Formats: sequence, structure tokens, C-alpha cells
Amino acid sequence: MQKLSSRLQQFRTGSPLSFRLLAYILLFSSLFTLLASGIQIYSDFRKDVSVIEERMAVVETSYSSSLSRSLWALDQKLLEIQMEGILSLPDIVQLRLRISPSSEIVLGEVPRAAAIREHSFTLVHEGDEVFKLGDMKITASLDQIYAKMQRQVLVILATQFLKTFFISILIVWIFQYFVTRHLSAMANYARNFSLSNLNQPLKLDRPDTEVNRIDELSQVTEAINHMRARLQQDLEKQSRDADKIRKLSKAIQQSPSSVIICDRQWRIEFVNQKFTQLTGYDAESMAGKHPGMLTDDPFLQRENRQLWQAIQLQVQRVGVWQGESNSIRKSGERFWEQLIVTPIKDSDGQVTNYLILGEDISIRKRYEQQLLRQANYDILTGLPNRMLALDRLKLALAQAKRENTLVGVMFLDLDNFKHINDTMGHDAGDNLLIEAARRISSSLRGTSTVARLGGDEFLVVLPGLQGADSTSQVADRILQTFASPFLLGNQEVFVTTSIGIAIYPTDSDNSGNLLQHADAAMYQAKNKGKSAYERFAPEMKEVSHERLQIESRMRRALELNEFELYYQPIVQTDTGMLSGAEALLRWNNPTMGTVMPDKFIPLAEETGLIIPIGEWVLEQACASAVHWEQATGTKLGIAVNVSPRQFRDPGFVDAVLRALRHTGLDPRRLELEITERLLLDNTIETSDILSRLDEEGVRLSVDDFGTGYSALSYLKSYPFDTLKIDKSFIRDVMKEQDDASLVKAIITMAHSLGLQVIAEGVEEEDQTHFLREQGCDYSQGYYYSRPSPQLEFEDWLRSNYRAQM
Ligand code: C2E
Ligand code: MG
Ligand code: MG
Repeated sequence: MQKLSSRLQQFRTGSPLSFRLLAYILLFSSLFTLLASGIQIYSDFRKDVSVIEERMAVVETSYSSSLSRSLWALDQKLLEIQMEGILSLPDIVQLRLRISPSSEIVLGEVPRAAAIREHSFTLVHEGDEVFKLGDMKITASLDQIYAKMQRQVLVILATQFLKTFFISILIVWIFQYFVTRHLSAMANYARNFSLSNLNQPLKLDRPDTEVNRIDELSQVTEAINHMRARLQQDLEKQSRDADKIRKLSKAIQQSPSSVIICDRQWRIEFVNQKFTQLTGYDAESMAGKHPGMLTDDPFLQRENRQLWQAIQLQVQRVGVWQGESNSIRKSGERFWEQLIVTPIKDSDGQVTNYLILGEDISIRKRYEQQLLRQANYDILTGLPNRMLALDRLKLALAQAKRENTLVGVMFLDLDNFKHINDTMGHDAGDNLLIEAARRISSSLRGTSTVARLGGDEFLVVLPGLQGADSTSQVADRILQTFASPFLLGNQEVFVTTSIGIAIYPTDSDNSGNLLQHADAAMYQAKNKGKSAYERFAPEMKEVSHERLQIESRMRRALELNEFELYYQPIVQTDTGMLSGAEALLRWNNPTMGTVMPDKFIPLAEETGLIIPIGEWVLEQACASAVHWEQATGTKLGIAVNVSPRQFRDPGFVDAVLRALRHTGLDPRRLELEITERLLLDNTIETSDILSRLDEEGVRLSVDDFGTGYSALSYLKSYPFDTLKIDKSFIRDVMKEQDDASLVKAIITMAHSLGLQVIAEGVEEEDQTHFLREQGCDYSQGYYYSRPSPQLEFEDWLRSNYRAQM
């Protein structure tokens, strides 16, 4: 019994569904069996009872007349026989005959506590009149019927229970075999389901028949397997996506640019490490802020608001904003940033975010500003240079025109400077210039400009003068400041200056003329015996006569073959090996001696003579390169200087091609040096000319880099191959930290633009070490060789091992 109950318990826990099914089948079939059996038993019972009642009725009909007769005849014997006859009938247990008036015959006995049925009828004699004889009461016992019923109930219960039980077991077994075991298998599958066995499908242990294939279990199995496959696909996709996202977010995180991602309302959602590094603001505190409102300082916020309104408007209209912003770090420090702001769109083209990329351009900006300063200021004295001075002069003239005032222009030239420079050295010369600049400046008031035009020449612009006399007063003051000696090294030296003065509008209303007149007056002062000043007078125009003389001599110089090219080697900085030569022009005039290009090229430019001279230089230089190759076997590149006037000439490109054709020089061996200032001139098709030359294979270089406009970004648009750093930077590269870092920056930036770099004016070994360290590609300067005439250069080529390429 115990075993059975534990089995049952086991079944109940092991297969609760089957157990419940079994319980319900048992319960309901028992109920139905009981109900049906009850109805049947009851109807049997009713039938049996009605048989008894019928029987008692039959007794009445069949015996009442014979009993009445026997009673009428008072035949007791017959009466008893008749009554015994009735009593022998089944189930009849007692007969009670009451005879009127007061006797009674009772036959049989009613068992105690038995269920009974009674039937009474009246016995009458029917003669002339009806006479009541007595009453007969028949009692029948139902015991037999109950006993039968009991047996029937037992049989029915037993058979029905067995039937129900076995059918239930059968059903449960069928259910178990066809359903629950598969459900358990599914449960097990689901329980063991993990990412590691995603590729094992669920398979039920049953034959793969047509019927099985379409039933509910198959549907569930199929659904599970489908779910598994989808999960697998999703996971694979997810992992691919995650991989991609990981890569992207790493790239963004580690990007060298600062990255901000904002939502559609321009609230910051993400900033990368570089942003934090750059600004000092950490990612958490930035969340939700506007990129233009990083600081809490209301003043700075107001300053930024306008910029960001413009940015937002442009990004919405044009789709991108690009520009420079003077941003501020958390520490309050300012820095320059190059910003690119673009929207991020989803696949429907709807803007979901905004991307802000920032790059710290402080260094570039600083160098650009430094270069710009260098372009406008004289490095040695810190005074404005010729360019800026001319600008200021033009401004002063315009203002004087408006205000009806005078402008004084003074041209100063130190007396005997060349002598001091030659005898006491360049350093002394430099110190003298610095001190002279200081003394001149100290004699002037605020609105005046002092500039160094070059060498020992200074220019003073005195704007807003009421009378011409004030210029004389200033000139006197300047001369006085030169009265005390200059201390150069340990030596006291007296240096004086000569001053020429021209006045607007008395002498001219044109800046160029004013300068020329002041220059002429200065010569006059010098002629008069130095340490003096002189006002311009019309007779002095005669002086310009000299210029005219030079001009006419120059015109004949080509015919008289007075021009000569000198050549200076250009070497590889790291090996010192020769790579090319620059052609430098000299003018050998019988009266003037050897004239350096600085002295006559500006005049040749002005007069246009530079065009035939330039053509001659091109032909000559190309021919030399070809000649050296034939004579020594060295294939040298040849660099030729081109001046702006020449470049602008419509026949320039043809002249270059002609020279190449005549001499047969490979265009790739010719390099044209163009000054930076030329690039500023937008009136000519600079870019077209450069592109045409580039297409022909001619190499192009920017000469004297750093003395002009010096915007590196400018170089990007032109097909330059080489950049020549001006010698003024190289000169102090070992002495001035500023120059050193500038040269460094120029080299790095040039390389990043794909340009090779030549350092000009290398005079000392130290400089070559520095340049080598900085990766400067080529060098040129007195350290390697001074410019030399053609034949001398050819000898140098033959004898110098470095020339053996
Ligand atoms: P540039 O093209 O920058 O030429 C370099 C100048 O630096 C040359 O001066 C050269 O002699 C000088 N130099 C070279 N090494 C050193 C050095 O180590 N230290 C110093 N202090 N100077 C050095 P040069 O020959 O007097 O020429 C001056 C300028 O005249 C040239 O500057 C160039 O712009 C122009 N030039 C020369 N020849 C021609 C030409 O044929 N045509 C045109 N248009 N211009 C020319
Ligand atoms: Mg040059
Ligand atoms: Mg140069």
C-alpha cells in the first residue's frame, strides 16, 4: 500500500500533467458512471416494485370474489386454503383479513424493520343488496428487491470502476507517449539551451511521418527551432554590429580631433578624450550642455551666442559649417580651434544628431601670426618693414587728404655703416642698427611710424602735420640723439645719419614719388657732409638722373654681354651630396664694377628689362646644365629665379619652353623659383600658369619663404614641389629659439603638404646639424660653397667628391 502511494507521489511529481489528467478522467468518469448506474438501478427498482404492486392488484381481482364467497359461506377451511395460496406468492409476507364486525384472521408475519408495500381491498357480497363482509390487507416485503439491488450496485460499481480505471490508464499512457514525454524533451531542451549550443536544433524522438509533421508538437518544435535560428542570426548580427561599433567608438574615442556629438536640440550627448584633453571639461559635466555654452561665465556665453547662432543657421541651410574659433579652456586659457560642424542623418535623411569636430590649431596660428609679423616687421629691430611702412604712408596720405593736413616723409641712411659692418663684424653692425632704431623711435610721438627699409635705411612717416617746420624739428631731435656715441663691443663709436625730407602735398601727392624725393633729399644731405637733414627741392630730381643712367646702361648690358651667371650648389642635407645648383645673376659693368642683383633687379623690374634679361638667364642656365652633363657626366638640376614681372608676362611659359627646347634639357631638371609675394597677386592667373608649367614637368619652388605672406594653407592650392626657407631664418637658427622653432614648424608643415624643403644661407656647420635633425631635405649656402662663375663651378664639380652623383 505504501509502495503504491509512493509510486503515485512519484508519478504526481514526475508527470503532473498526466497525473491531473488521470485524476480528472477518474473523477468525471466515476461521476458519470455513478449517475448512469444510479438511474439504471432506480429504474430496475421501480420496475420490481411495480411487479409487486401489480401482483397484489392481481390478487385482488382474482381472489376477491372467491374469498367473498368463502366468507359468505363461512367456510373457514376454504378461506385459509385460499389465503395460504395467496401467501405463497413471492414477496407476500402477511395477509390480514378483518371480518365484520370484529374477528380477524392473520396469516404470515412482517419481518422487523423491513421495507414493505401494502394493498387493501374490501370483500363484499353482492346479492339483492350489497353487503360488506370484511377487509383484506396484503403486505409485501421489498427485502428481496433490496437484496437484488445491492448485488446489482456492487456488480455495476466493480465493473464500471475497472473499466474507467483501465481506460484512464490507457488514455494517460497514450497521452504520455504522444504528448508529455515530448513536452518533457522540450522542457529539457529549453533548460539546456544556451549560447554555446545554439546550432543544435530541437528534435523529438518520434517517427517523421506525414501525420506527425503537421501536428501541434511539430508546430511548437518548428517555432522553437525558428526562434533558435533567429536568435543565432540576431546574435551574429549583434556581434558584428558590436564589433563595428567598438571599432568606431574606439576610433572616435582615440581620434586626434576633439569630437562632440549633440542631439537635435544641440545638447551634448558625447565628447571624446581629446575634447577633455583640449578643453579640460570632463564628459559627465558636459552632458546636456550647449557646445557654445560650456562656461558658466555670462560674458563669455554672450560672446559665443552669436557665433553659434550663425553656425546653427548655416548647418541647417548648407549642411556644414567650417571655420576657426577662438575657444576657451576650463582654465580660462584661450586657444584656436578649427571647427567642422555637420549634421548626422538617419537612413530617411532626417537629422538625428550634430557632429562637431575640433582641431587645436593654436600652434599653426601662432606660427602664422609670427610669420605674418615677420612679413610686416623687421626681425632685427622689430620695426615695421618696407611693406608695412608703405601701407602706413598710404593711410596717412588718405587721412591728410580728408583732414587737409600735411604728411612728412623722412628717409634716413646711417653714415659709414658699411665701414663699421666690415671692420667690426656683423654682430656689431646688428647692434648698431638696433640702437639706431631705438634712438630714432625715441625722438618721435605716438602717431608717427618708423620703419626699416633694409640695410641701414630707415623711413619715418609723420602724419597730421600742421606746418612743414615740424619736420625740421623732428629731424633735429633725431640728429641730436645720434650725438652720443654707440657702445659696440667695448668700443665707443660715433655714428651719424643723413636725413632727407619730402612733404605731402607740397612735394608730391603720391607715396612713391614722396619716397623718391625724400631719397633724393637724403643723398643731397649726405653730399653736403653727413649728419644733416635736407628738405626736398625740385632741383634734386637731377639725382634721379643717375637712375636713368643705370637704366640705359642696363639696356645695353645684354648686347654688350655684361651679364654673367654665377652658380651655387644645392646639396642633400643628410649626405652633403650635390643635387643641383641655383643660377644667380651678376652684372659686370666697366664703370660700376660687379653689380649685385639686389641693386639692379628692382630697377629691371620697374623698367620691364627683366623680361629680356630673364629669358637670357633661362637659356644660359639650361645650357650650362646640359654642358656640365656632357663635360662631367653629372646630371644636375638647375634652379632659376623668376621675378613677378617676368612671371606675369604673357610670353613667360613660352620662353621657358623655348629655352628647354633650344638646349634639350629635361624639363624635370629645371626648377623655377618664385617669390612668395607673387602668390598674393590674384589679378593674374597664377594658378593657371603654375599648372601649365607643372604639366610640362617643370619643377616649381617658393623662394624666400617666410618673408612674404607665408600662409601655409596657400601652398596647398598650387603645384609646388619645393619650399626654400629664407636665409634670414637660417642665420639665427642656432641663436634664437624663436627662429629654431619656426624653421622646425615650416619643415614639418611643408612635409605634411608634400613639399621638399631647401634651407638657404647655411654658413656654419652647427646649422647643418640642426637642419639634418629637423629632416630638412636640401641646403644651400656659403658653408658648402659661395656662388661661383660657370667655369669655376665646373672645376668644383670635377674636383669635389660630393659632386660625384
Ligand atoms: P635668392 O634667390 O634668395 O638667392 C640666394 C641669395 O643668397 C644669393 O644672393 C646668394 O648669393 C645668397 N647666399 C647664398 N648663400 C648664402 C649664405 O650662406 N649667406 C648669405 N648671407 N647669403 C647667401 P644674390 O646672388 O645676391 O641674389 C639675391 C637675390 O636676387 C636672389 O635671392 C634672387 O631673388 C635675386 N636674383 C638673383 N639672380 C636672379 C635672376 O637671374 N633673376 C631674378 N629675377 N632674380 C635673381
Ligand atoms: Mg633664389
Ligand atoms: Mg632665397
